[in-house]
Amino acid sequence: MLPLLSFCTAEQPWLLDTIEALARLESPTTEKTAVDRCGAELAARLRAIGAAVTLLPRERAGDLVRAEITPQAPSAAPILILGHFDTVWPVGQLARMPCEVHDGRLSGPGVFDMKAGIALAMLAVRALQMLVPDRRRPIVMLWTTDEEVGSASSREVLEDEARQSAAVLVLEPSLPGGAVKTARKGCGHFEVAVTGVAAHAGLEPLRGASAVAELAHQILRINAFQDLERGVHVNVVRANGGLQSNVIPEHAHALVDVRVPTSQAWGELAASFAELKPIDFRTSLDCRGVLNRPPLERTPAVVELFETARAVAGDLGLTLGEGETGGGSDGNFTAALGVPTLDGLGAVGAGAHALDEHVLVDALAPRAALIAGLLARLDALALQRQD
Ligand SMILES: [Zn+2]
Repeated sequence: MLPLLSFCTAEQPWLLDTIEALARLESPTTEKTAVDRCGAELAARLRAIGAAVTLLPRERAGDLVRAEITPQAPSAAPILILGHFDTVWPVGQLARMPCEVHDGRLSGPGVFDMKAGIALAMLAVRALQMLVPDRRRPIVMLWTTDEEVGSASSREVLEDEARQSAAVLVLEPSLPGGAVKTARKGCGHFEVAVTGVAAHAGLEPLRGASAVAELAHQILRINAFQDLERGVHVNVVRANGGLQSNVIPEHAHALVDVRVPTSQAWGELAASFAELKPIDFRTSLDCRGVLNRPPLERTPAVVELFETARAVAGDLGLTLGEGETGGGSDGNFTAALGVPTLDGLGAVGAGAHALDEHVLVDALAPRAALIAGLLARLDALALQRQD
């Protein structure tokens, strides 16, 4: 393991150069041209390290970048490395968040979430090629372009890749201090539509049944569905209704953001929404729920993968913790398929989606060595799935 660490430490300048090059090509999810520009640079750099690169064209989002590193005689299922190079920042954000190293921190738009993660995976692969040339498993890297808005145009591709893989390593940012993510909540939402009876507010107020008043009652009931102890988050994030003064409102809507720790919790919540009844019998309710990302549950397969990573970290003289997060990632999709998934293997830092976004420079090389060591260990292990 230690030669991997020495290699990665010596290659720190390469690592910084790669992160900065990717961060300087700003790539907000919604601007395909900008995302594709970053993707072209990424593809060129992946080819330069010996990967077979394919661009998977997308109409609305940026083209996905798939890179494969195949050993001479592959004899086991691939490991999938997953991440995204779209960011939440608009083009021009660099002026406010320059890409620079200061006080041991590399800052810049999208460095933590998650362009540093991409560079870490690339350095890990370089280390393997140099130091562990005899391998059994192909390594497939899939870098997507719409993770920040729910992965509509990449979900199918990444799920297909995951199904063919023995395990999935997600290079999303780590938890504070470098812990990986062995559980992520599922994210979804409910839309609540209330239909009332319109009437003139001055002439015939009793004929009207206000959809807005009814929604107000229902919002209080919905708030009560929140159960923080069980990790169920329920928040009404938008409510609107009515037309103008003089008219008792016929329509009102609410959008409810929901986070659940398990699929079972989602089912229970859906049942609670289905049981909502109007207080004013002249109004009616319609509730529709969508689970955008299923929960990443801490299954035995996830724990086994984490324990493998922790053992590798130990061999490198590092400690590796684990934790849970409320935010979702593409790891939620792969874990829900039953493919062992370890998330949060990316950079150590802070400030995802915030102006102080940065990664810790000293933690980069050890992290790359950890990823390389984990890939080597997984290459040697017979993993139940696919092998
Ligand atoms: Zn991310």
